[in-house]
Amino acid sequence: MQPSAAAGVGFPSSPQSASGEGITHYAHSKHPLVEVTLSELFTCGGCKEYGAGRRFACQDCDFQLHDFCATSPPVLNNHPFHGHHQLVFHAKPKSAKGGISWPRCDVCGKSSKGFAFRCRACNFQMHPCCAMLTTEAHFPAHPHALRLLPAVSTTTNGGVACGQCSKRRSGRMYRCTVCEYHLHAVCAKDFINGLQANGIPPPERPSALGTAARLASQVVIEFIGGLIEGLGEGMGEALVQNIVRGRCVSRRRIQPP
Ligand SMILES: [Zn+2]
Ligand SMILES: [Zn+2]
Ligand SMILES: [Zn+2]
Ligand SMILES: [Zn+2]
Ligand SMILES: [Zn+2]
Ligand SMILES: [Zn+2]
Repeated sequence: MQPSAAAGVGFPSSPQSASGEGITHYAHSKHPLVEVTLSELFTCGGCKEYGAGRRFACQDCDFQLHDFCATSPPVLNNHPFHGHHQLVFHAKPKSAKGGISWPRCDVCGKSSKGFAFRCRACNFQMHPCCAMLTTEAHFPAHPHALRLLPAVSTTTNGGVACGQCSKRRSGRMYRCTVCEYHLHAVCAKDFINGLQANGIPPPERPSALGTAARLASQVVIEFIGGLIEGLGEGMGEALVQNIVRGRCVSRRRIQPP
């Protein structure tokens, strides 16, 4: 079942749209993708976010795309969230700054690690799922219509709690047109990506700090790996032993055996 919130924007369907047959998608050109509906959670190979329900799945390997990611149009004109500039679809994310922080989506506030619509004229960008949201919408979580509030600069939305997750967090927020109910855009996305429809609670996301630490250690490991590759076998082993013993050995001090 399609949530009513999705009806407003509505991507035009892909020219190679599926009719039970496979489609060939440039993000996974080696195998055809078939449109299927499965209740379990998946990670979209395009936008790198969670999804459930309708998807385009590879029958040969683990690659899956949200339906709205698979059928993203190349441009969005007059989008209600950024109507004054044209938004262009990009399959590749902007690179993470210093390998640590990804660019943030201007709607949900989460990092953008894959497919995104980006403005040519300014820094605005958003996930394909966020582009499916509308400024005014009805979500099954609340009986009244909600309206998207203007972007605020505070990271916690002025301390307003969300009726869905009860947390204070960044990103745009919806507010009820009748009562005091608030809903994060990031929580509204779970009504678009199939998680709510399939009764899947949003998986716990690692904290930004944890992600930064993990990415940082990955950079160190890659750096050391590159260093070892650049050395002779014996020297590489000596370097590894020194690292294991907790000593920091610079390349300059390593003498050939
Ligand atoms: Zn996706
Ligand atoms: Zn495949
Ligand atoms: Zn977003
Ligand atoms: Zn713009
Ligand atoms: Zn929330
Ligand atoms: Zn209300």
